[in-house]
Amino acid sequence: MTVASVASRALAGIDAPEVTVEVHLGPGLPAFHIVGLPDAEVREARDRVRAALNHGHFEFPARRITVNLAPAELPKDSSRFDLPIALGILAASGQIALQSLDGHEFAGELSLTGELRAVRGALAMALSARAVARAFVLPEGNAPQAALAAGARILPARTLLQVVAHLAGEARLIPFEGEARTVAASYADFSDVKGQQQAKRALEVAAAGAHSVLMVGPPGTGKSMLAARFPGILPALSEAEALEVAAIHSVSSSGFEPLRWGERPYRAPHHSASCAALVGGGALPRPGEISLAHLGILFLDELPEFDRDVLEALREPLESGRVSISRAARQSQFPARFQLVAAMNPCPCGHCGDRAGRCRCTPERIARYRGRVSGPLADRIDLKLEVAAPREAELVAPIGAEASDAIRQRVERARQMQISRQGKANALLGTREIDRHCVTDREGDQLLRHALARLLLSARAYHRVLRVARTIADLAQKSTLAAEHIAEAIQYRRLDASF
Ligand SMILES: [Zn+2]
Repeated sequence: MTVASVASRALAGIDAPEVTVEVHLGPGLPAFHIVGLPDAEVREARDRVRAALNHGHFEFPARRITVNLAPAELPKDSSRFDLPIALGILAASGQIALQSLDGHEFAGELSLTGELRAVRGALAMALSARAVARAFVLPEGNAPQAALAAGARILPARTLLQVVAHLAGEARLIPFEGEARTVAASYADFSDVKGQQQAKRALEVAAAGAHSVLMVGPPGTGKSMLAARFPGILPALSEAEALEVAAIHSVSSSGFEPLRWGERPYRAPHHSASCAALVGGGALPRPGEISLAHLGILFLDELPEFDRDVLEALREPLESGRVSISRAARQSQFPARFQLVAAMNPCPCGHCGDRAGRCRCTPERIARYRGRVSGPLADRIDLKLEVAAPREAELVAPIGAEASDAIRQRVERARQMQISRQGKANALLGTREIDRHCVTDREGDQLLRHALARLLLSARAYHRVLRVARTIADLAQKSTLAAEHIAEAIQYRRLDASF
């Protein structure tokens, strides 16, 4: 009996654990079994591999073929294993040399005519192949994404025949050279937004300290416009962060677009989104919106319109920066360190508080509407601000508003202070770290005590005031929290009483 083994990879969360594709050729009636795949997918894999081998004029062995995908307990979606299965059959039947497979990993779906089709998770697989110093043979369409793993040896191929010619030493595959990785992020600019000075200031604070934000205001005041410009004032992603973002997107159903390398994700799911779409799920778990927003922005417009389950599901990842998805006794973890930017109307009709008195909502309806954003979730949002309609004078103002670039420079400087002081953004400070790094001067301390007594802040809200005040002081390049910093931070909790 002849055995060939071929290295490939499965996907588990954003990891790509190794899978060994073992092909045995045994005596007995001709048969073709695949072990270790869901039944429904076995037939399709068999048909594709058999057709591709026939089309390439290879001999399909008239023997008992058993393919085993090990380890058995890994979740496997089948099509990526077409190429390694075909190569295993060729090696076991002596049509290519067994040792030619050494030092390589393979993944790719085969068409019936032997062309290679792109598969999901190329970057995650390339990162893992790089870690064990193997060359990674994969469909041409996957190469630009896989090449984001700097230093990985990526060998793209168009057809099964090309792969075989490479292994036989007849025509070597040419390693893919990744294009220069430039960040060409093109977010809309804050200079388009007239007026709204208070909202812009609050967003600058949020960006500097990675704080979550809720904007409350009537329709048409530009809340979505402000949110869409928010990623443009955030500090640039580091190389490692950009890789993390790309790896998560590479295992999602939409895939990662290499042109978006280095961009902070911006996700804005509709309020009708299901819990699974938001937090992730599926038989082979895929990342949801909160993971696709990892290291970027999750914008939830019309926050109270989201399903209560959906809002509840946000609480845990908001604290831990991760999400666990359990499916059929199997657990997958995905990173979910997103910055929440939410928006809502002040009342169901949207006009509560306007001077024309157009709102006809009863106090009970308003309370019920705001109550949909539960206390614990509202508590976890660092900044809440009212966004009012800009006054006419602001709209016709001849002077241009400040551009995103200028704001981002202040944000980056403030963030740099946080990194050198405590190694993380202020929003992530634990309570002990707050004691250590958020030192108030005498006046600041008095103001804080006074506000505590008057506003009846929860312990959680109290710590959030200090974290935000820390960020405001960082923007002013001050080491101690003064009364003005505390006062501004308290402003951003003013709406707490109505949630
Ligand atoms: Zn109303």
